[in-house]
Amino acid sequence: MTTGNLLELVDVCKKFGDFEALTDINLAVRPGSVTCIVGPSGSGKSTMLRTINMLESINSGGIFFEGEMIGQQVHGNHRRPVSKYIARKQAVNFGMVFQNFNLFPNFTALENITLAPMTVRKKSKAEAVATGERVLHSVGLFEKKDHYPNELSGGQQQRVAIARALAMEPRLLLFDEPTSALDPELVGEVLAVMRDLAAQGSTMLIVTHEMKFAEDVADEVIMMDAGHIIERGRPRDLLHNPQTARAKKFFSSVS
Ligand code: ADP
Ligand code: MG
Repeated sequence: MTTGNLLELVDVCKKFGDFEALTDINLAVRPGSVTCIVGPSGSGKSTMLRTINMLESINSGGIFFEGEMIGQQVHGNHRRPVSKYIARKQAVNFGMVFQNFNLFPNFTALENITLAPMTVRKKSKAEAVATGERVLHSVGLFEKKDHYPNELSGGQQQRVAIARALAMEPRLLLFDEPTSALDPELVGEVLAVMRDLAAQGSTMLIVTHEMKFAEDVADEVIMMDAGHIIERGRPRDLLHNPQTARAKKFFSSVS
C-alpha cells in the first residue's frame, strides 16, 4: 500500500472467543494528524489501540504502518506478532499512554524515562539522560526529575508518562483515555501537553471523552459502538450534527 498514510487499518476484525469486539474497522491516519476515538464503554476503543500496538492479534483484515503490514490474521489462538522483525520495528515506532500512567513506582521520573531508550534502543546513559531531561522540560516537569511517582500528582505522573513515550521518538502516539483517571482540576494540564504535541505536528490517535479537546484538536473524530465505527467526520460536524440516533444519544450524554 502506498497511500501516504502513516497507519492504515483495513477490514480489521477481532474476536475474543465467539464475541466480536471489532467488526470491519477501516481507518487511515495521515502523518501529522490527530484522530480522536469516542464511544461508550465496551465499544472496542481500547481493543482497537491494542491491536494497533500489537498487544492483541486480529482475526481478519490487515494493519499497515507506512504501507508495511504489521498485523494480519493469525490462525488458531496464537498471540504472536507477524514476525519478530516487524514487531520490533513497530515497537520502536509507537508510543502508548495509558489511563493509569503505568509508571514504575521505584524509579524516579527521569529513570522512568531513560529506561527504555537505554535497554531497547541501546542508548548510552548520557544520551538517554539528555533526551530525558529535554522531554521532561517539554512537559513542564524538569524540576521534578528526581521525584518518585508517589511524590507527584496524577496530572504530573501522566505528563511523565507522556514524556516517557516521547523519549522513544515514536512516529505515532497512542493515548487510551489519558485523563479519565484524573481529578477534574488536573485534566487541563495533561490536555495542554497534548495540545502542544498536536501543534508541533505529532501524529496522534487518542481515545477520549473530552469532547471540547476533540473539537479543538482533532482532524477526524471516530465514533464507535459495539465494535463498529458508526460515524466519522470532522469534529464540528460529528459532535454537533451526528446522524445516527446512537451517536445523538451518546453526544448528548457526554457534553
Ligand atoms: P472500550 O475501551 O471501548 O471500553 P474495550 O476495547 O476494552 O472497550 O472492550 C470491548 C469489548 O471487548 C468489551 O465487551 C470487553 O468486555 C471485551 N474484551 C476486551 N478485552 C477482552 C479480553 N481480553 N477477553 C475477552 N473480552 C474482552
Ligand atoms: Mg477502554
